[in-house]
Amino acid sequence: MYGVKDKFPHLPERLSGLRELAYNLWWSWHPEGRAVFKLLNRQGWHLSNHNPVKMLNRMDKDALQTASQDPHFLRHFDAVMARFESYMDISRGWFGANIADPKKHTIAYFSAEYGLHHALPFYAGGLGFLAGDFLKECSDLGIPMVGVGFMYPQGYLRQMISPDGWQVGACEMLDRENAPIRKIMDAEGNPLSVKVPVMDPPIYLEVWKVQVGMTDLYLIDTSSEANEPWNRCISDRLYTGDLEQRLRQEIVLGIGGVRILEALGIDYSVLHLNEGHPAFAVLERIREKVDSGMSFRDAAKAVHDTTVFTTHTPVPAGHDVFSYQLMDKYFGSYLPTLDLSRDEFFRMGMNPAKPEGFNMTAFAMRSAAFRNAVSKKHGEVTREMWHQLWPEVPEQSVPIDYVTNGVHIPTWIDRRLGDVILNIYLGRNWLDSHDQPRIWELVDEIPDDVLWKHHKAMKEMLIAKIRERAREKWLNSGADPRLVMASGVLLDPSALTLGFARRFASYKRPTLLLQDIVRLRKILNDPWRPVQIIFAGKAHQDDQQSKQLLQQVFNASKDQVFGGRVAFVEDYDELLAQYLVHGVDVWVNNPVPPLEASGTSGMKATLNGVPQLSILDGWWIEAYNGKNGWGIEGAPDESNRDEQDAAAIYDLLEKEIVPLYYNVDEDGVSHGWVKVMKETIKMTGPNFSARRMAKEYTNKFYKKAIHATVKGGYRSEKQGAKEDLFGKI
Ligand SMILES: *Cc1c(COP(=O)(O)O)cnc(C)c1O
Repeated sequence: MYGVKDKFPHLPERLSGLRELAYNLWWSWHPEGRAVFKLLNRQGWHLSNHNPVKMLNRMDKDALQTASQDPHFLRHFDAVMARFESYMDISRGWFGANIADPKKHTIAYFSAEYGLHHALPFYAGGLGFLAGDFLKECSDLGIPMVGVGFMYPQGYLRQMISPDGWQVGACEMLDRENAPIRKIMDAEGNPLSVKVPVMDPPIYLEVWKVQVGMTDLYLIDTSSEANEPWNRCISDRLYTGDLEQRLRQEIVLGIGGVRILEALGIDYSVLHLNEGHPAFAVLERIREKVDSGMSFRDAAKAVHDTTVFTTHTPVPAGHDVFSYQLMDKYFGSYLPTLDLSRDEFFRMGMNPAKPEGFNMTAFAMRSAAFRNAVSKKHGEVTREMWHQLWPEVPEQSVPIDYVTNGVHIPTWIDRRLGDVILNIYLGRNWLDSHDQPRIWELVDEIPDDVLWKHHKAMKEMLIAKIRERAREKWLNSGADPRLVMASGVLLDPSALTLGFARRFASYKRPTLLLQDIVRLRKILNDPWRPVQIIFAGKAHQDDQQSKQLLQQVFNASKDQVFGGRVAFVEDYDELLAQYLVHGVDVWVNNPVPPLEASGTSGMKATLNGVPQLSILDGWWIEAYNGKNGWGIEGAPDESNRDEQDAAAIYDLLEKEIVPLYYNVDEDGVSHGWVKVMKETIKMTGPNFSARRMAKEYTNKFYKKAIHATVKGGYRSEKQGAKEDLFGKI
């Protein structure tokens, strides 16, 4: 039997429930869970940066003893434990009501990153948050799921900007003892160690567990002493630029991940690959079946019919391609154990449009019976991009479906908006049925001044938070005052505030708003109707081009001509994202279409009544209706695209957005603005939630895949598209 290492030896018996509670991220989306920790130690909660494990580790025995005899605390503690236990006990749930024998049909979800909470920095951006939100929602719906990913001990890039605007990040080591993760131990009480077969010398994996409500997430760690020193750093950090190391990571994630599930005795019916990174999992699943006596063809078919693959990006750099030479180096001795020839294997990963290398997306496309893009538009783009895999069918029949992304509502809605305002106007149990469009119609019943005042309070909190960070920087580093100025000290809570925060990548055009400095200055510095912009985001350490874009943004925020109305806030993470999506007035997104496959940060903002000003790309094409924000087509002509798109944004700001925001009544409320806010909430709640998304994955794919395990085999419904594992050349 496997277990987890026991923690908190100083916890009194009466409070032993806190052990499970602290290690279950349930508290991250249940305000009452967080409230217990706050009540126990308000200062400790703050100082631990909202991390109950760290907080409990640092509390002394006496304080815990006192709490265990405090009737006021115990009443709250017992009530929350009762709610937690009843949550963990939903044996039926939505999934159980739809699938016979739900416990027998676990879905194994593989992803290279997970964004769950700022205490677990195992993410780079949107892909990770999608995966994290999905695990939480599957838990809420009772979808039996187990997640597999990486524990990146150096996953967290602490972003610092040098005086000349260059990102000089330092990788911060994860404090494992204080993070809400627990190491899996074997029966003898030693760390479980799982061997990856492909590598020579072999690599031994240790495993950490994160409890996400009812979902178990297992994270791979290669730093074991049993490994050769150069192998220990495989899981060090996300997306290394070194292709060989990247291949080794993907072998460890895919093949090692399946090995871990096997070692833990976890049975699952369906494999879901989130992006191409973990696709080698397919091979190890096949190998297990071949090992138990199946022919390669039968095994491959069984795996194919129960595998779901979600592709997330049309940006070429997002698709890993490995040279055949590298592939030979690592797979030479592995393939025979599957009864698979080198030629057949390489054909599975060949992109006919660019055959020079093993393409992970092509491999995943051929390996899975169920494939999807992440928005309607991205579906079209992906079918065009991968038409060559199914040349015999017209483009619109290419068997790649779409499921538009969504965000986990309890994670991203502000607690006061959800627990106070929506509870009153939508009804107390609105959260239980939040994918029903009709309940959201009641948003219109919220009095304008209630929503407006709520939002103003959120904006003030955001700006106070930014100033607190700026003060800390000033105190600790004695930095050049101009740098402190650049980080937002002059922000004005009454000015119209635009937010632009995401990973810095060139296709996202973080400098587009700065295209015409003269015009922008006029908009920002209007003394009567001022506008300000808050930027945040990290560039990948190896991406010099994105660091240059960041430098341009930072230099603008330092530039006196903007009067402190452009701010760059360092170290964008989940916590800062929460403040930003709740507190800015307009969420700006201006990628080069059609490269934003979906985008999710805008959904987090609109859920909170923050309208979006965005290029019509990704999810915004489906959401925008003329009343719930602003949309820009994007110039068709590439040669002056940036100028034209920036001009369209300035036009909208000058003619519509600024006048609407400042058109207030005698109490200072802009009724026109609140109308837009209400439309954004009504659109997001039912349509762009992780709940709608998880139900769609279940109905479109999981049910059919589960059916295939029962009936044996899945036949594509798309006319004429042949499901040939080996692809065609
Ligand atoms: C949601 C989120 C993202 C994804 O943002 P996009 O605008 O969709 O790219 C990235 N980082 C953080 C911290 C997030 O919360």
